[in-house]
Amino acid sequence: AEPIRVGIVGYGNLGRGVERAIGANPDMRPAGVFTRRAPSSVVPASESTTVRGIDDLAGLQDEIDVLVLCGGSRSDLPLQSPQLASAYSLVDSFDTHPRIPEHFAAVDASARAAGTTAIISTGWDPGLFSLQRLYGEAILPQGATHTFWGRGLSQGHSDAIRRIPGVAGGVQYTIPSEEAMARVRAGESPVLSTRDKHTRECFVVLEDGADADAVREAIVTMPDYFEPYDTTVHFITAEELARDHAGAPHGGFVIRSGTTSSGTTQTVEFRLALDSNPEFTASVLVAYARAAARLASAGDHGAKTPFDVAPGLLSPKSPEALRAELL
Ligand code: NAP
Repeated sequence: AEPIRVGIVGYGNLGRGVERAIGANPDMRPAGVFTRRAPSSVVPASESTTVRGIDDLAGLQDEIDVLVLCGGSRSDLPLQSPQLASAYSLVDSFDTHPRIPEHFAAVDASARAAGTTAIISTGWDPGLFSLQRLYGEAILPQGATHTFWGRGLSQGHSDAIRRIPGVAGGVQYTIPSEEAMARVRAGESPVLSTRDKHTRECFVVLEDGADADAVREAIVTMPDYFEPYDTTVHFITAEELARDHAGAPHGGFVIRSGTTSSGTTQTVEFRLALDSNPEFTASVLVAYARAAARLASAGDHGAKTPFDVAPGLLSPKSPEALRAELL
């Protein structure tokens, strides 16, 4: 079979991960990086990866089967996904959960008019976690689902810390409560508040002369970000920050616990433990890019989410091989 040619739109953390993930999939070929910045200012990890301006995507349909969109959910994907779906099949990792219905509608209109296939909101949450929530509910209708995140680095909360006066640098980890998880696993179906489910741990480097107590107070009382949680603040040196907190670990748990008859508890648990959130998310995107290319060539057009994509389409193996080897 011909390799699937994959274009990378946007070259940040996710874009670098996608470049690497394409290399790990023998049925795929990189079709270049497309950036909004000056192409000469973007240096790809592999010398053989070409970098072009995003405007060059006009008219490259003969060279590209599917695009993987690696822009941010806040302001890039709401524009780029509908726009590019008018010319290419694509996947994105749009993760602003309350906005997914409107994002789907915009991408769907564009993809249907153009005859392309666009799988939105892939990755792990939304993405693999969404699938686990669906399986749990469908199989155990009498029960409750709990999603726990972490231990993981939260980019949004780390940014919020760094904007506080007196802070020179810092990171924030979200930590799931062991006690809350134990109760869910035991089938107790507890009612858990935000404070019960997760704690937050911050590692902060102060500017010279900054008041540690004032910074700690500004963090733990910050509405929405930290106030609803039990938050611990550690002060460290710039060297410690660089040495111990440079990675982007993340992960979490989806736990469905329910009953199938009185006193018969059934629990389903899915866990991710990720050394690198962007490299893992990129690996999911690339598997969905394979599915998008297959759906497009089968004439199944429009917007899709992971709920609409049959699992076998993610695998490079044939349906026959999957039945023989994995079923
Ligand atoms: P990022 O590193 O900030 O990159 C986002 C975009 O910023 C890039 O595509 C790039 O586009 C642009 N950019 C501008 N200046 C840059 C510079 N100097 N260096 C690098 N990039 C620059 O964001 P990310 O970590 O890749 O994450 C992207 C999105 O993935 C997040 O917003 C999040 O919504 C989503 N995500 C989803 C999941 C999930 O499970 N569904 C998990 C993780 C992340 P240009 O090349 O065009 O400038």
